[in-house]
Amino acid sequence: LSPMTTSSDIILSARNISVSYQGVPAVQGVNLDIHKHQVTSFIGPSGCGKSTILRCFNRLNDLIRGVKISGQITLAGENLMTLHPAAVRRRVGMVFQRPNPFPNSVYDNIALGLRVNGYRGNIDDRVEESLRRAWLWEEVKDQLKRNALALSGGQQQRLCIARAIALHPEVLLMDEPCSALDPIATMRINELIQSLRQELTVVIVTHNLQQAAYVSDYTAFFSTNEQRIGQMVEFGVTYELFRAAQEQRTLDYIEGRL
Ligand code: ADP
Repeated sequence: LSPMTTSSDIILSARNISVSYQGVPAVQGVNLDIHKHQVTSFIGPSGCGKSTILRCFNRLNDLIRGVKISGQITLAGENLMTLHPAAVRRRVGMVFQRPNPFPNSVYDNIALGLRVNGYRGNIDDRVEESLRRAWLWEEVKDQLKRNALALSGGQQQRLCIARAIALHPEVLLMDEPCSALDPIATMRINELIQSLRQELTVVIVTHNLQQAAYVSDYTAFFSTNEQRIGQMVEFGVTYELFRAAQEQRTLDYIEGRL
């Protein structure tokens, strides 16, 4: 980290995080700071713990049986492990690999979440605002009652982003959000991610190196060690990591030898 970094620039901080499933270690010893209002990407081969670490950031691993997490994570300076999981998930939203809108109207996809969370403002206004922030409003403003499953894949994923940001979370986690999308839909989402950075912090797992290079300010490279346990190998400013990685394993991955 550069000497200019102060703790107020850091929204999420992981210290010595290790996760095991049913006693089998998945990822070990991760130390990582996520910078506020920046995009951080997690890259690396499959099975090295990228999604596992992402899920720690909104307590989603809590829902998996037999999971054990050690280490410390802070969210804006608070111990994330002792906050209420529902409160964490309001502050840290998530978008998944496959678009997963509810089989309801476009409008209800956003309105239901607002109501469940006790939102007291004007729901119509917040639905419109969320759809605008997700760059979907112009395409759906005349079909808010239409079933969300009738939208294209790219539109469905932008709807899921709108739903995830409707409660104004501080962080948006994205787990390979474009792997089911075509290149044009992917490009729209890449541009959207860059624009979201003005309002919140994004952490994205991606297999697509072009996407990581294009959208992210910081990149963390994950791999597995000799015992096949995941670890974070290198973290840096995306531009520098892609131009001159410090670790041979990062270089090999970026240059396609892994
Ligand atoms: P990545 O996102 O880098 O592909 P994951 O975090 O999905 O890696 O997985 C890391 C390791 O943890 C893998 O060995 C995977 O099989 C294991 N794992 C992930 N999720 C579960 C789960 N729900 N139950 C058991 N093992 C899991």
